[in-house]
Amino acid sequence: MVSPRSSSGKSAGPTNIVGYTLSIPDNGRHMFMHKSERKRCSACSYPLKFLSYNPKFKSSSRIVDRHDGYITSKPDISSTYDLFYIASGRFRDFCLNEGYDGLIFDKFNDDPNYFNLRVRRRVKFDARRRRTTFDKYCRVCKNYESVVGATPSYLLRSSPLSDNFYRTDLIFGSEGRRSPLILVGPETKTKLQLAKLKGLTFQPAYGIE
Ligand SMILES: [Zn+2]
Repeated sequence: MVSPRSSSGKSAGPTNIVGYTLSIPDNGRHMFMHKSERKRCSACSYPLKFLSYNPKFKSSSRIVDRHDGYITSKPDISSTYDLFYIASGRFRDFCLNEGYDGLIFDKFNDDPNYFNLRVRRRVKFDARRRRTTFDKYCRVCKNYESVVGATPSYLLRSSPLSDNFYRTDLIFGSEGRRSPLILVGPETKTKLQLAKLKGLTFQPAYGIE
């Protein structure tokens, strides 16, 4: 599908940046501590609902493990080991003030300062171009044991994402650790950087050339 772009026969690499993938630091926590807390497939034993969160989760004041090499103290957005995104009240306020729709901030029973972040708006991921691999399909739950190859991201579109948050249609990861990527439009990236939200870095996402 992709033809060589230079006369030397060497691919020039992607140049069409249509948005940015959020790089989100680990917070050293698990959303679910025990296997029995999640509904699982009887055949492959992996969770059935990857995005169903745990309202009993507590971030505690220090949500970065001191043994973790990748430390961001009190980040405004972070990821659990099982790949749930945790947003601070500051992050939520920023999104509400900007009027971003399609974001869900699930509440925790005992932790009013943090939220489980989910994104509703979807973008199509270009798995063929990214060479994403899909391993061990389960006929019972219709999931793969692993979907690997998410970044740098390739999207099935050629125009830039408009000012908002998006999630990939694909859910990446393996076994009990799965998540879509979160992406933002170029304008959204600038606003997030100006707001100085802690913990966020950005990676370019490439569209169809
Ligand atoms: Zn299964």
